[in-house]
This record gives sequence, C-alpha cells and structure tokens, in this order.
Amino acid sequence: MAKILIIGSGFSSLSAACYLSQAGHEVHIYEKNETVGGRARQMRTDDGYVFDMGPSWYWMPDVFERFFADFGHQVSDFYELELLDPAFEMVFPDRAKFQVPATYSALRDKFESLEPGSATRLDQFMADAQFKYEVGMKKIVYKPGLSLLEFLDVDILRGALRFDLLSSFSSHVRKYFSNPQLLALMEFPVLFLGAMPRDTPALYSLMNYAGLKLGTWYPMGGFGKVIEGMARLARDLGVVIHCNSTVEKIVTEGRKATHLLINGRQEAMDAVLAGADYHHVERNLLQPAERNYSEQYWKKKVMAPSCLIFFIGLRKKIANIRHHTLFFEEDLIAHSKEIYKTPKWPEKPLFYVCCPSQTDPEVAPSGHENLFLLMPIAPGLEDSGAQHEHYYEMMMDRLEKHLDESVRQDVDYKKAYCIDDFVEDYNSFRGNAYGLANTLMQTANLKPKIRNRQVDNLFYCGQLTVPGPGVPPSIISGKIAAQQLLSQLKRESHEATI
Ligand SMILES: Cc1cc2nc3c(=O)[nH]c(=O)nc-3n(C[C@H](O)[C@H](O)[C@H](O)COP(=O)(O)OP(=O)(O)OC[C@H]3O[C@@H](n4cnc5c(N)ncnc54)[C@H](O)[C@@H]3O)c2cc1C
Repeated sequence: MAKILIIGSGFSSLSAACYLSQAGHEVHIYEKNETVGGRARQMRTDDGYVFDMGPSWYWMPDVFERFFADFGHQVSDFYELELLDPAFEMVFPDRAKFQVPATYSALRDKFESLEPGSATRLDQFMADAQFKYEVGMKKIVYKPGLSLLEFLDVDILRGALRFDLLSSFSSHVRKYFSNPQLLALMEFPVLFLGAMPRDTPALYSLMNYAGLKLGTWYPMGGFGKVIEGMARLARDLGVVIHCNSTVEKIVTEGRKATHLLINGRQEAMDAVLAGADYHHVERNLLQPAERNYSEQYWKKKVMAPSCLIFFIGLRKKIANIRHHTLFFEEDLIAHSKEIYKTPKWPEKPLFYVCCPSQTDPEVAPSGHENLFLLMPIAPGLEDSGAQHEHYYEMMMDRLEKHLDESVRQDVDYKKAYCIDDFVEDYNSFRGNAYGLANTLMQTANLKPKIRNRQVDNLFYCGQLTVPGPGVPPSIISGKIAAQQLLSQLKRESHEATI
C-alpha cells in the first residue's frame, strides 16, 4: 500500500482520489480553501442563498454515470437530476428570443421555422457530431496523451478525416446553417469554454451533440451536490480530506518526490498527484530544474477566458426568466476578439444569467430568486475592481429590458467575483476560469503532460491537462492520472522485487 498525497480538491482530484483509494492505497487530499470543490465550490450566505461559484451547465450525463458506476454506484445514489425544458434561452437583437427545447424533435421544428431546410441539415450535423462524440468518448478522451501510438486504433484511423481536426469550427457550422441565431446557438459552447470558433477544430461540434441531444440537466441543490456526492464517495472509500491545508512545496530527492510541505509541516509520501493549476504547481511548488515547462512555454499558451461574475439575491420572484439565459444581443465576433485577439475589457459584451431558483426552491429563501451573472473576459486583464460596477449596470439594464420589469431595487445580496479572486482563491494562472483554450495546438498530446519528466512519482490532473476544460473532462482527467500513477507504482514494485 502506497501513501499518495493529492494537491487540491476540485473535480479532477476527487475523481483521482476515488480510483487510487479503490486500488488499495492510502490517499490524502490537501485543499487550501475552507471547503472542497475548487472552482465548483458553493457559497452559502447567512440569509439562505446557496450560490454555485462555478459550473452551472450539467452536460454529458453519461460521464458522471460512468464515474459512479466504476464504484458500483449510480448518480441517483448521490443526487437527483432534473432535465431542463427549455434547456436554455438565447436573447438576440430587437428582443428576439430562442428557447432551446429539451426534445430533439421540437428543436428540429424550431430550426425549420427560422431557416427552411435546416431541420434536415441539423440531422446531418448531429449525425456527424454524434460520431465524433461516441468515438471521442470511447477511443480518445480517456487516453493519457503521452504518445501518438495511443491513437493507433482502427476506429480512430478509419474516422480520422471525420474528426475534422484541421477545419475550423466556424466554417464547419457555416456549411450547414446561415441564420445568425442558429449560428450563435451552435457557436456559443466553444466561445464560452474555449477559443474563437474560427480557431477551434471542428472536432468540437461534439459539444453540440452533448448539449443539444443529451440534454441540459440540473443537479437539485446545485452543482455543489455533485461535489458533495464525490467527496462522500471518496471518504467512504477511505480518502482523508484535509481543508485549510496549503501545499507550499514538493520536496524531492533525486528523481523522487519525498514530502509535501503543508502549512509549514512536512508530510512524507510515496507519490503525489497535483490537481491544483498546473502552472502554479510548476512555478511555485517545484525547483526550476524539476519543471516540465518554462515560463516562455506558458506565455505562449492560449488560455480559456476568465470572467466577471455577480452573485445576486433578489427579494422577489421574477416571471420572465429561464434557468439559463444567454444574452447574445451584441456582436459575438467583436466580443470574442476582445477576449482572444486584443485582450481588453469589452465594449459590448455577451453575458449569461443563471437563475437556479426557478428550478430549485432550496437555493434561495422562499419568495426570493438566486441570480448568477457571468461575463467572459480575457484572462490576465488588470482587475482593480473599478470596472465591476460599470458592467453590473450594463448587465442589469439588459436583464431588466429582457424581463420587462425592474429588479435592481430588490437586490438584497450582491457580490462580485473576478480575475484577482481566481488568482487568490485557486492560484489560477492569469486568473483563468476554464483552463486552456481548445485550440488545435492545445489538443490531446499537445496539452501539458500528465506526468512529470524529472520527478518519477509526480503526476498532474485537472483542466489544464488532458482532456481539457469543463467538469466532465476534469472527472476523466482524474481517472487517467490515477491510472498512470498506479502503473508507475506497479512498475516500481516490480523493479523492487527483481
Ligand atoms: C465560473 C465558472 C463557470 C464554469 N461553468 C462550467 C459549466 O457550466 N459546466 C462545466 O462542465 N464546467 C464549467 N466550468 C469549468 C469547471 O468548473 C472546471 O473545469 C473544473 O471544475 C476544474 O476542476 P479541476 O479539478 O481542474 O480544478 P479546480 O476546481 O480549480 O481545483 C483545484 C483546487 O486546487 C486548490 N489549490 C490550488 N493551489 C493549492 C495549493 N498550493 N495547496 C492546496 N490546494 C491548492 C484550489 O483551491 C482548488 O480547490 C466553469 C468554471 C468556472 C470557473
């Protein structure tokens, strides 16, 4: 039995901890914050609001089911899922709206009403996206990304051209649709989670299949319930979770990490898995000669956006709001350029509003609403706080116009969260919210590696390594890293016996 220490308690760390403990090892998680969950923590206010601080879109339910099934469980043993219908609403110029229905047949009808002939093209688009999703899930995303040989697989080779790695997402979507609302609907997932649609490989149309075909779900009680469920499973498997425990250094001897320095005290170990932000681990916990990558390398990386968030409590219910609303009344390309090309605080941003209290009475006091406003911005912008109010007023103006009612005077809780908070709370590189952008040059084997090249028993997991940003990929990342670490332990014990 080896003693394995894990840095951080985000989705990837909790996932890895479960696999490592299941394999019979002693596993400890060290988390710097007071509570577990990393970017998916919850914040509870004294007067009864429960805010999810990060994820709110529960997509790819199959990944969560597969995770719990690996431990003889199902999702419903830990939390209850609700299918959202409408899945979400998009707001366009001139007060036009598009509600995305939960069923595919209703979605086809909506497409057809906006662009004649597009329902059949949606079928074709989705068949292609389904292929990418299914082959991707079975054959690609669970690979550690250490060698190209991993992709020598009949299905992968046969389907290589269909993965559309070399064509852009933007031109791919335009082969099927021309209506601006339909284009925005198809492009929003890659924009919010990754990069400009024209810099994203068309492979990521698999996200459209995930979002539009597999459904948009909501874990009752909020995303925090998923974290709670995974932490409960981890503890049941024997994992010990230590909060308020900042890892200050990975202590090494030759090619071995021997201890972690935690809150000034050394803890011995046989192996370490870093689930904190990759750049922070390399830059702040290791000596230069032990790092996989230089500062130059990180400077060239394209990070996914950061964001300005407002957690808002309202002392009244509102009628004209859905669980998820995307405000796309401004120009998508102009905003994405301000995120990715010429980083600056945006002129006319798109933004997103989540109102989970429309679905779930537990996340706000009775008769109140819980609102989460999120505006994507370039990571690394100067965040003095001076800009926050300007964008609060801008988003509230547009929200009130959409609602056809004023709400500002009913705000009884308000908290801004932005770049400096991501850095302070999570040691996030440049204050990124979602890790690395999904560009071609940062896909699969081209992502930061899951194992350290100089320190044999140090591995990495999380949204900055394979397979990428988002909750489902982070859960998968934990599994891949745990498998790699277990193989290394097996190799070592084999070498020790011969
Ligand atoms: C605002 C926002 C909205 C999002 N929306 C969605 C969504 O709707 N759907 C979706 O699928 N994904 C979404 N995501 C992305 C998703 O939340 C992340 O990809 C995922 O949670 C990342 O998990 P992780 O394990 O990589 O890292 P993290 O959650 O970042 O966990 C890393 C942990 O390491 C800890 N740590 C850092 N340094 C140290 C140290 N020195 N010592 C000890 N601990 C340390 C941190 O405190 C943190 O708890 C969103 C993210 C954000 C921020």
